[in-house]
Amino acid sequence: MRTVIENAAIATVDAAGTEHASGHVVVEDGVITAVGSGPAPGDADERVDARNCLVTPGLINTHHHLYQWATRGLAADHTLFEWLVELYPIWGRLNAGITHAAATAGLARLATTGCTTVADHHYVFPREGGDQVEALVSARERVGVRLHIVRGSMDRGVSQGGLPPDNLVEETEAALLGTEAAIDKHHDASRGAHVQIAAGPCSPFSVSEPLMTGAAELARRKGVRLHTHLAETLDEERQCLAEVGCTPAEYADKLGWLGDDVWLAHTIHLSGDAIRRLGATGTGSAHCPTSNGRIGAGIAPVRQLLDAGAPVGLGVDGAASNERGGLGEELHQALLQARQRGGPRALTTREALYLGTMGGARCLGRESEIGSIEVGKLADLAVWNLRGLSYAGITDPVAALVLGAVPPLARLFVGGETVVSEGVLLRSEEDVIARELSVAGAKLREA
Ligand code: ZN
Repeated sequence: MRTVIENAAIATVDAAGTEHASGHVVVEDGVITAVGSGPAPGDADERVDARNCLVTPGLINTHHHLYQWATRGLAADHTLFEWLVELYPIWGRLNAGITHAAATAGLARLATTGCTTVADHHYVFPREGGDQVEALVSARERVGVRLHIVRGSMDRGVSQGGLPPDNLVEETEAALLGTEAAIDKHHDASRGAHVQIAAGPCSPFSVSEPLMTGAAELARRKGVRLHTHLAETLDEERQCLAEVGCTPAEYADKLGWLGDDVWLAHTIHLSGDAIRRLGATGTGSAHCPTSNGRIGAGIAPVRQLLDAGAPVGLGVDGAASNERGGLGEELHQALLQARQRGGPRALTTREALYLGTMGGARCLGRESEIGSIEVGKLADLAVWNLRGLSYAGITDPVAALVLGAVPPLARLFVGGETVVSEGVLLRSEEDVIARELSVAGAKLREA
């Protein structure tokens, strides 16, 4: 199968920032085989006339909690800790059916906002909750994007000085065994994988030290990546200083949790030393600007992290703290927040797009496969439709994408497969997914 996309503006072609004002991308058997200016060479089984469209790499979401699609709109005016305390008991009633409905909806929303790869940090495993990991894997099948499941865990309930209720946490050993089982059953290390697993204890305030170090040992033994929440709020920093006498970043360092196989959600409250340490170790950051704004957690030092050489990607975060749930919006939010923190030169439009593509690919360890439009890479591509009223006459298509409203998609390709066409999800019907989600959400809140 040879697909030709032509007459399109093309951006984020490679790390040098190559762009084509009017060019082509050729896809053969799911892989990019040509990209350049002007018309495409040779024949095609399918031709996509992308006049007045912008082609970018599919966006990469480095931090999410898909199950939270079933609990949107709650605790709308709360701090992080207050928000968690209100939501934990509801999440404690999750079962595999509810997680499946919520995850399908979340993935559908992400696909229709340009996202082709999603990292989902799932850390809620209620005792009677069924197979949560399987619920996520089957949701992915119905949408068609790539999914990195971070098998999360919590083992510090209230009685251990943690924040979650005791009935929501696992025993340390059970959490590690559950993570190992998910890796053995679902992790695909091959090129072009649709499902990968990472190890992800939830956060220092919900996890014991043995779980943090045990997860790091397990991940390195199995060759999978490590992920957790870190340095999100000042409350977390205060608690960490009181309990272990150092900042969250110093604590992560001490536990062997910095390295080029680790990416961390948020990383807002970092000292200059911590930023340099993240850069020197190649530790990634999942920057979640909308969620950080909703919680009022602060603004991550994205400019400084980039200058230190650290990988930085974008994350939507769970829909309970980001009800929009789309990734396209985060390009805009990342740019606004960086400039609010560091002034007008703190982040360019191209850098915002870089965070959502190549930066994310680095965080997930997949920079040789996805994140740019280079020959040999997987054909994960977003074809943004800039034809309508909202975009007519915008000179620079990248500015249209990053500064304007999120454009509709003419196409979304994952490994050459069309997953979204003219804004419509192809593998499943959105109406069906929305109905299932309404039923699941009501069940969860009324239980
Ligand atoms: Zn999160």
